[in-house]
Amino acid sequence: MFDLIIKNAAIVDGSEAPAFPGGLAVKDGKIAALWHGGVPEGMQAAETVDADGLTLSPGFIDIHCHSDETFYDYPRAEGKILQGVTTDVGGNCGISLAPLRQEYKDLLRSYVGPAPYAWESFGEFLDYVEKEVRPSENFACGVGHGAIRIAAMGFEPRKATAAELEDMKAMLAASFDEGAYFLSSGLIYAPGTFSDEAELTELSRVAARYGTFYATHMRNENLHIFDALPEAIRIAENSGASLQISHHKLIRREMWGRSVETLQLIEDARARGVDAWADQYPYIASSTYYASNLPSWAFEGGIPALMERLKDGATRTKLLKETEEMIGDRWKDIFLGYAVHPDDKKYIGKNTAEIAERMGVTPAEACLAIVTRNGNDASEVNFGMCEEDVERIMQAPFVMIGSDGWAYDLDYPGKPHPRSFGAFPRVLNHYCRERGLFPLETAVYKMTGLPAKRLGFSDRGLLKEGYWADLCLFDARTIHDDPTYLDPCRPCSGIARVYVNGVLTAKDGAHTGSRSGKVLRR
Ligand SMILES: [Zn+2]
Repeated sequence: MFDLIIKNAAIVDGSEAPAFPGGLAVKDGKIAALWHGGVPEGMQAAETVDADGLTLSPGFIDIHCHSDETFYDYPRAEGKILQGVTTDVGGNCGISLAPLRQEYKDLLRSYVGPAPYAWESFGEFLDYVEKEVRPSENFACGVGHGAIRIAAMGFEPRKATAAELEDMKAMLAASFDEGAYFLSSGLIYAPGTFSDEAELTELSRVAARYGTFYATHMRNENLHIFDALPEAIRIAENSGASLQISHHKLIRREMWGRSVETLQLIEDARARGVDAWADQYPYIASSTYYASNLPSWAFEGGIPALMERLKDGATRTKLLKETEEMIGDRWKDIFLGYAVHPDDKKYIGKNTAEIAERMGVTPAEACLAIVTRNGNDASEVNFGMCEEDVERIMQAPFVMIGSDGWAYDLDYPGKPHPRSFGAFPRVLNHYCRERGLFPLETAVYKMTGLPAKRLGFSDRGLLKEGYWADLCLFDARTIHDDPTYLDPCRPCSGIARVYVNGVLTAKDGAHTGSRSGKVLRR
């Protein structure tokens, strides 16, 4: 007697093997039986679901997201669950909320945003998530280089001393011992910007020792990407760590089309024996902190120091000038996604050129005004990529899908990047079905079996007997990313059911309220 039978499905098992008609049975949260064709004779369950030809795949694994910044307020993670994601992987882009030293708690909070910070070690953080957050999805996490650097030396804009580096390595190793999956860096953000290649190589050696990867939001993804990508590859090559290029993309018109060259660099590295991979979100717009439009020296000493600089006349003038130079004529591409300050709510969803016009100032002045009022509590959606690069990158066999999004519910107050609500169905609908970049089996593999292999999961990411029953039942003909830039906080259509560890968590576009996710430890 099983808990659940799903019959008459088109099984896409996550391994890239051809789909076949069949079904599966679930017992105690795991896949207990899987078959081709009709239900085996005598098999019974408390509940039987007739899939009626819909596609049954593993739940999607979001190998690159930032839900660990938001799931305290949104443990149901409706945006993720309603697009079929059953495992979120946080700790990316150098940003994790552990390890944490209490003396730097306020600095980390000003940088990452509100969270309980009721822990110090990585293990204590995972315990907190398990006991207090209890998210609807499974959760795995990497260690952010920014977090260990802040814990070791605050926002100091300089190289680490030998003692500080040893301290960071010890914290990193302890975090791996306590369940962290990988090391990440975010080299456009302070304090990552203050670190050099030697520091990152030394830390990646620890990742190599633990047999895991170094994931990097590279130092540059636009005009200087041909310095940044070779740096990332050298760090992997010299440390022996595996490499994950985070959210690979090329921003700015001048760089469009040059994914031919970036992919070639990665392929060459692979041919030399570097274990190099990448992830990508399926949109031509990126999203980050709105404050990232300011030059990196503005963040020396952290956000409180930035706020002081914005008050000082001469420094503010210098910031204004450099911000203006950095962005040039791109203000109309940079939209305000969210701002915490009430005065800026009316600008959410508008681009910076429009906002400037309404404020009656220049765009750079409007940008500084928003940062002055909101600190790091404002986000942007930035249209800087081209479809040709997005498609070319997505087709590379070493590229998997990650949303780079956050855990939000449908009532999230703002117009965040739609990737938090629709990244995975968008690949299935637009890039697989409409554009025909690859077959359905490959699309599903890039969001299940491949990231699972990458993370070393031995019991998730495939439909296989003995694996956890993380499942997504969807209509491959109609699945659609309804969330858009103008109206992002919506469920996706075409997804009938989502199960997390065998528990029904979404049905026909509505969250059931179940919170059956598990905290995963490496
Ligand atoms: Zn990033």
